[in-house]
Amino acid sequence: MNHAKIRLDFADTSTRPTPGMRRAMAQAEVGDEQRGEDPTVNALNERVADLLGHEAAMFLPSGTMCNQVAVSTHCRAGDEVIAAANAHIIGVEGAGAAVFAGSFVRGIETPTGIFTATDVATALRIPDIKVPRSRLVAVEQTNNFGGGSIWPREALAAIAQVARDNGLAVHMDGARLLNAVVASGVSARDYAALCDSAWLDLSKGLGCPIGGVLAGSRAFIEAAMVWKYRLGGAMRQAGIIAAAGIYALDHHVDRLAEDHDNARHLAGRLGQIPGITVEPVATNLVFFDVAGSDQSAPQLAERLVEQGVRMNPFGATRMRAGVHLDIDRPGIDEAADLVATLVA
Ligand SMILES: *Cc1c(COP(=O)(O)O)cnc(C)c1O
Repeated sequence: MNHAKIRLDFADTSTRPTPGMRRAMAQAEVGDEQRGEDPTVNALNERVADLLGHEAAMFLPSGTMCNQVAVSTHCRAGDEVIAAANAHIIGVEGAGAAVFAGSFVRGIETPTGIFTATDVATALRIPDIKVPRSRLVAVEQTNNFGGGSIWPREALAAIAQVARDNGLAVHMDGARLLNAVVASGVSARDYAALCDSAWLDLSKGLGCPIGGVLAGSRAFIEAAMVWKYRLGGAMRQAGIIAAAGIYALDHHVDRLAEDHDNARHLAGRLGQIPGITVEPVATNLVFFDVAGSDQSAPQLAERLVEQGVRMNPFGATRMRAGVHLDIDRPGIDEAADLVATLVA
């Protein structure tokens, strides 16, 4: 692929720290994080624990590590995790649940990534010497490959009930939890406190360069600490990056509403292009299908990159455009005009 300079990158992981965030990072008080002596990391952990309605939280270098530490803490070898078939934990984490936890993830087929308490009840194994032990239900709020869809609180509560009744824990991959919060008006705590563990990503729409924060009970976080060390996630003067997280929680949460507005605008513009079908937009992710045009998603993606615009192909005809704080309304119009030209 021709790597022209990308002017408009429609991935919410492509955000750069703002000048204000960089100042907060430069001024951060730091200490040895491994010893629990970094005041800025400790402040971030307390802040996120409170935000998510849990006793404790743990700063980690990435969202992927939040998922892997959580699965490894909840599960032992031979256990089974239940998740949507399109889950990040299944498709794009290098089979980490199998590698680290020795666990199998069973996928429930659902296009939006939202499943029901009945789906969970059906997927439960009847305990027997021959079968995996059903141990964990993992949900994604919002569901990335399901179009940024939002789990309704009631659906989550129903699943938590079935899980609890059957001795399973519930884990929330909250990479974009705050997008769900801003779009729905339901608090982060009202979603996350239903789960035994939950995390949010600092490096997606919140605009930080790195990091995720995993929350749970004090006992869960203590047990998770072993996995943080084991996987190499224990850091040293990590306050310098934790400061970006605190800054983002202060300054970059409410503004996610702008991203959602812009995503709807982008969807509207793309929907007017003949040959393109746009999926419903719930938050900051816009998925669209180019099957009605004369090119595949990878072909269109490559031609966009040649013009400095990046939108990622997901399969033969499906594409994703994520809106974030480095993409404004004129940028969206420019990208939509370009797609229209390339598809015509
Ligand atoms: C991005 C993402 C992750 C992984 O987060 P990283 O910080 O990129 O490791 C996990 N789950 C979902 C749903 C994501 O979108």
